[in-house]
Amino acid sequence: MPATCGSRCASSRRCTARCAPTTARARAWTISSPGILTASAFAVPIARQLLNMDVPQELQRLDGSALRSLFVFIIAAAIFNFAFMAMVTHRLLGRLRNLSERDALTNLFNRRAIERDLQREWHRWQRRRERFAVLIVDLDHFKQVNDTLGHPVGDEVLRQTAERLAAHARETDEVARIGGEEFLVLLPATSREGALRVAERLLVQLRAQPLGPAAGGVRMTASIGAALVEAGDTDVAAVLARADRALYGAKSQGRDRVVFLP
Ligand code: GH3
Ligand code: MG
Ligand code: MG
Repeated sequence: MPATCGSRCASSRRCTARCAPTTARARAWTISSPGILTASAFAVPIARQLLNMDVPQELQRLDGSALRSLFVFIIAAAIFNFAFMAMVTHRLLGRLRNLSERDALTNLFNRRAIERDLQREWHRWQRRRERFAVLIVDLDHFKQVNDTLGHPVGDEVLRQTAERLAAHARETDEVARIGGEEFLVLLPATSREGALRVAERLLVQLRAQPLGPAAGGVRMTASIGAALVEAGDTDVAAVLARADRALYGAKSQGRDRVVFLP
């Protein structure tokens, strides 16, 4: 396991796919070991009983109250063990879900997770006419970062950009990485004005400060295509297609801006 895995996995935002399974395995062994040791201690006498062998002399010497205590101890050990197993299973399932819906580089939601949530918003719109908006955020001239500073610095630019987007989106918004240097922000229960406000804030936050030293201290800008669900839309894809066309418009109008369609 790489030396940094433990500290990175302490914070879920920076826990990468490579570290997670090893850490979960180590935790599972640590947590289960008291139960495993207890079970092992009783395994031999129980096996001898089952095989109709002599009952061990230590057990033969026990009186009624000692047997009761032993019984209580066995039940307590079993409850203890099952409780730990339930906890480990719960944690592992949580970890698995995390791995299946997070992007390994940025730890944002991945495309699969955001598509699920887009469908949820689509159904909410159909049932309750609650509008949602989407922003497609694409870094400007990102390829130049890779070409001039190298791919690892490019990766760090993506991580730090993801952190800024997540930090400056609203509490109820969801941010996902849907492609190389492309992010999607889902804004539930949002008007056109609300979506524009969020988009402008994200643009300001990106351009205002250069990124940190690990990202080469570069100052990045982004272009945003925005769209709001409309009565004529037949599915989520129609909204995304409009946001995509809007993004194309933002790029062709000079970048570092938001364009809203229609
Ligand atoms: P534009 O302003 O038109 O969006 O230009 P751009 O350079 O940002 O876009 P372009 O599509 O030309 O280049 C995107 C680059 O992103 C090309 C690809 O190698 C790089 N890329 C994609 N995924 C990753 C990644 O995970 N890490 C790094 N470092 N680079 C990536
Ligand atoms: Mg780009
Ligand atoms: Mg792109």
